[in-house]
Amino acid sequence: MNATAPARKRALVTGGNKGIGLAICQGLLAAEFEVILAARSIDKAKTALEKLQSVGRASLRRQTLRERNENRVHPLILDVADDESIERAAQDFGTHFPQLDVLINNAGIYPDEDVNILTIDRELLDRTMNTNTFGAIRTTQAFLPHLSKSPAARVINGSSGLGALAGIAAESPSYSLSKLALNGATIMLAAALKPQKIAVYSMCPGWVRTDMGGTSASRSPEQGADTAIWLATAATPDFSGKFFRDRQEIPF
Ligand code: NAP
Repeated sequence: MNATAPARKRALVTGGNKGIGLAICQGLLAAEFEVILAARSIDKAKTALEKLQSVGRASLRRQTLRERNENRVHPLILDVADDESIERAAQDFGTHFPQLDVLINNAGIYPDEDVNILTIDRELLDRTMNTNTFGAIRTTQAFLPHLSKSPAARVINGSSGLGALAGIAAESPSYSLSKLALNGATIMLAAALKPQKIAVYSMCPGWVRTDMGGTSASRSPEQGADTAIWLATAATPDFSGKFFRDRQEIPF
């Protein structure tokens, strides 16, 4: 390694095995990050890793990219709805890596088909809040010792326009509430972590063609990943505690 080269930044992406999370991993690798691809199972993480590594097997130039990616992307088991899994993942991370520069709380579920605020039951509310909101909070808490070792750490919460006050309607009840509360967590975490100079952002990827967004969605996963990658690489800490889409601040 070149002794004068700046140290490579390291990012962890939850739900990194598919959809927007996988596109974020891809984009961060292209931005020369080292990437920890977290997924609920090692099989899912390794399958996704192979997808990243198989980029461009067809040409020698891309073969080089594949080889470089192989050394810079690592699998991690992390179920954000399970505190034991989160703790294990944070410990596991600490045994392999000295610090974490960027945490992207991307993992999420949308289980609200055929329910609205008048019909949703407690189990569904619990499950969605537990994953989309409490998962991001608990993951941030657990990885804080690693983030604290970075000189300019940042946390990016994968939110949604359906969690913006102006986007709330009778439909998508558990999802909307979970993202509204996640935006609240962004504001609270940004305030709590300001003394440590750790920035915290919310972002909406837009409507994206993934298993969650469906095939009619207007954006590719790469387009959906763009603002998260921008926040990870270029946004200033002055933006901490704010909500973004298309690299622009939007109202909570
Ligand atoms: P997706 O294709 O369904 O992927 C969701 C990811 O989250 C998967 O990797 C999934 O893992 C993971 N996940 C779910 N529950 C988890 C848990 N308990 N622990 C760890 N990982 C878990 O969805 P997506 O469209 O890429 O969505 C990514 C994020 O963007 C979500 O937070 C979503 O709310 C947000 N978003 C999406 C859209 C859109 O239009 N697609 C719009 C606004 C916001 P498995 O493979 O194990 O299920």
